[in-house]
Amino acid sequence: MPKVKTEKKSRIHKDVAKQGIMFNKDFGQHILKNPMIITSMLNKAALRPTDVVLEIGPGTGNMTIKLLEQVKQVIACEIDTRLVAELQKRVQGTHFQPKLKIMIGDVLKAELPFFDICVANIPYQISSPLVFKLLLHRPFFRCAVLMFQLEFAQRLVAKPGDKLYCRLSVNTQLLARVDMLMKVGKNNFRPPPKVESAVVRIEPRNPPPPIQYTEWDGLTRITFTRKK
Ligand code: SAH
Repeated sequence: MPKVKTEKKSRIHKDVAKQGIMFNKDFGQHILKNPMIITSMLNKAALRPTDVVLEIGPGTGNMTIKLLEQVKQVIACEIDTRLVAELQKRVQGTHFQPKLKIMIGDVLKAELPFFDICVANIPYQISSPLVFKLLLHRPFFRCAVLMFQLEFAQRLVAKPGDKLYCRLSVNTQLLARVDMLMKVGKNNFRPPPKVESAVVRIEPRNPPPPIQYTEWDGLTRITFTRKK
């Protein structure tokens, strides 16, 4: 008997496919739909009209538009060309168009330009490399207000003695001041992710501590793999 071919499972969320834009799980696409959370993230970033803001993964641009209302320039880095087209369509012909610069591609591979502030609801799978890319970026930025998976956010801000205190906590807090700002439930996103989320504020220590970072990282690597 011939084998029945099973169809490869689509990674596109079915419940949103019918609404026009297909969100792709591989890119961690969960659109922040609650405007109050977007507004509160922007407020916590204490934006100035002269600021250049970096947004990672603008998606359909809900946060981008609010940023464009408040600052001089938004540089938005997006990997999905379909969403880039959506975003371009949204600003085309408006006074926002000249203020928005879109970088197409993987933010982890991109050479980041100068920016004052970073605000973003990021794809959670790149959280750790992204935090260190930002913290080692020069010249210094003022602060980053980012949405993470709740457990990752808790590890970022954990203090010595906490159960979640780990290499990520030590290394991040060496280079930055970090604050947990708010927890955000799944239903504020479309489609809702499986995990809970939280917003964290990261402020690089400027000047940085006089420590050879790669050597330090090697030390914490040894210390924390022997943790009992
Ligand atoms: N900020 C938007 C969308 C969040 S979903 C909102 O809150 O509504 C995460 C976004 O990051 C998606 O648009 C996804 O396509 C994009 N993305 C995923 N991986 C990326 C990467 N490596 N570099 C840049 N963008 C990425």
